[in-house]
Parts: sequence; C-alpha cells; structure tokens
Amino acid sequence: YKESTKNGGVNIDDYRGVWVFAEQREGKTLNVVRELLGEGRKIADELETELSAVLLGHNMEEEADLLIKYGADKVIYVDDELLDVYTTDGYSKVIFDLIEERKPEILLIGATNIGRDLGPRLSAKVHTGLTADCTRLDVDKENRRLMMTRPAFGGNLMATILCPKHRPQMSTVRPGVMEKAKLHEDHEGVVEVVKPNLKAEDIKAKVVEVVKSDKPVVALEEAPIIVSGGRGLGNEEGFKLIEELAEKLGGVVGASRATVDTNWIDHSHQVGQTGKTVRPGLYVACGISGAIQHLAGMQDSKCIVAINKDANAPIFEVADYGIVGDLYEVIPELIQALDNV
Ligand code: FAD
Repeated sequence: YKESTKNGGVNIDDYRGVWVFAEQREGKTLNVVRELLGEGRKIADELETELSAVLLGHNMEEEADLLIKYGADKVIYVDDELLDVYTTDGYSKVIFDLIEERKPEILLIGATNIGRDLGPRLSAKVHTGLTADCTRLDVDKENRRLMMTRPAFGGNLMATILCPKHRPQMSTVRPGVMEKAKLHEDHEGVVEVVKPNLKAEDIKAKVVEVVKSDKPVVALEEAPIIVSGGRGLGNEEGFKLIEELAEKLGGVVGASRATVDTNWIDHSHQVGQTGKTVRPGLYVACGISGAIQHLAGMQDSKCIVAINKDANAPIFEVADYGIVGDLYEVIPELIQALDNV
C-alpha cells in the first residue's frame, strides 16, 4: 500500500487529532464553526484525541479565545494580514503546510461557499479523499475511521463513505445539520499563534473589492420558526400570505424548490437537498407535497405542521400536526387565531 499511495507512503498511524476549519468573515467565525466544534468534540472524545480549531485571519485574538470556550483543546491561530480575506491560494497553502507538519487524522470544513472551494483544493494537494456535503458523521473507533454520510442519487439514498488509506479524512459538512457546541466559560485550552510561510506572490488571485449583496440575507439556518410555501400557493402573490403568517409567528419565510424554479421567490429561501438544511423549533409547510429532496432539508425540525389539501401528501408522514384543507382558508384562520392570542 505504501507504493500505491501518492503522498509518499503515509503511515496512517502517524496521524492523530481532529481539526475543525474555523471559517471567518470580517473577523467573526461563522455559526457552522460552532456546529463543527460540537460534532468534532464528540469524535475527538470517542477517538481519545485532541480537538483543534484552525483559524486563519488577522487581529482575531478574541475570536481565538472564544473557540476554546466552544470546546477546542487547541486553537492553531495563523495570524497574517494576507489571511484577512479568504483566497484559495493563500488558505490552501497555509493549511497544507500545517497538515504536512502536524498530521491530523480528521479535518472538518463547513460546506459553505468558501468551504466548498477550499476542501477540494486542499484534499487534492495532500492526495487524500474528500466527502462533500455530509449530513452525518460516525466513528468506527476500532479502525479510527470516520464514516461520512451524505445524500446520493438525488437524495434517494444515503451513502456512507470511508477514506481507509489516506489521511487526513476530510469532510465538508452542511451548515445547520449538526448540533452547535455550547459555550463553557471555564473550558481550558491553548491558543497557539503561528506565523505562516506566505508571501503576497503566493496568492495569484487578488481580492480587489468585496461587494456585498443588496438582497436581504435570510438566516434560515438560524431561525427558530420557519413558514414555508410550496407550489400549492398557486402564484407568487401567495407568498404574501406566507410572509404574514411568518411575521405573526416571529419566523422567517422558507420555500420549496418548485417555487424557486418558477421565480416566485429567491433561491436563498429554498429548503432542501439543493437548498438549506434547517432544524427549527417549528416548521410550517404550506402547499408542499413533501418530496424526499425537500424532506432532506427539514425533517429534523422539532415540530412540523403541514397544511395541504391532499390527505395523502407525503408531507403528512413527517408532520407532527397535519391540517387537511385549502391553505387559502386555513392560513387566514390561523392568522386570525394568533391575533386573538
Ligand atoms: P408539489 O410537489 O407540486 O406539491 C404541491 C402541493 O401543494 C401538493 O401536495 C398539493 O396537494 C398541495 N396544494 C395545492 N394547492 C393547495 C392549496 N390550495 N392548499 C393546500 N395545499 C395545496 N425540492 C425542494 O423543495 N428543495 C430542494 O432542495 C430540492 N432539491 C432537489 C434536487 C434534485 C436533484 C431533484 C431532482 C429535485 C429537487 N427538489 C427539491 C424538487 C422536489 O423533487 C419537488 O419537485 C419539489 O420539492 C416540489 O415542490 P412542492 O412541494 O412545492 O410542489
């Protein structure tokens, strides 16, 4: 096997420790980092090894300390002006150097836009595999293997993928799926500040300007309550009713892909396999049939309420409360009832 592997014949027993990539934007780590720390902690405990967060940025000491309180045993904080803003070249070089030097056995990255760019680049550089867009991670303790599960074949089955011969075992993990690590003020750990071997010439693509989208950001993954509309709304106008109910409940608006494809609503609202994965306290599905690709994004919600005029719609199979009826009759009644609360 030594000859067959491209990375110079790695001995997988040389690799130890679980790493989490602590993605940051404008000096703040993303929520997905807390999710990865929560999951990483469980994996590290099971393998009886250390959990480290890898933070790249500039002037982020406070954020580094915070990662310890979220359960990291160690924060490898690479501080450099060149790492302030993400670049594929800069970040992949720095993390590649760290992997070569310190040999982690597992590296978890959030499946964000940046994570989806960084993960493949990095795995190709270190000649290891990458399981993208995982929704579940388990550990085979005896063999120190990470069992990485993700939807496959259009969400019709779940595939569990192993990386038996190469290290690190790399996975990008969908935001919103894993439980967030809790803050423990007294959790102890070490922040190690590292100066990278990085020059401006190493970064071929220069970030000239960061232009923020003027569309309002829908924080679907964060929302405790989501009211989603589907094709059953009949038209774009129908979303006004969904918005009204969402507002009354203090929630945000979600959508099925059918409504996004017909341009009734922006893609940022889409829930499901090719949209966002959510697990709010309350998910209200209105005029949504419950296709497997939609369920993949919301079935872990704590309480699901479905409104559909077809009593046989599959959404009722996952619903805690089902209302069989026309949404244009049911929702106004719900709104009126909420007004009277
Ligand atoms: P429909 O399936 O058409 O359902 C409409 C429902 O509304 C019906 O159940 C109907 O009984 C009900 N209805 C109609 N009128 C009323 C009324 N007046 N009152 C009450 N109920 C009414 N879909 C997603 O949502 N998210 C994804 O991320 C996603 N990813 C996909 C990825 C792939 C690779 C593929 C192949 C598909 C994906 N889909 C996704 C599409 C998915 O398969 C379904 O086509 C889609 O979810 C259907 O949307 P819908 O439930 O709104 O529409």
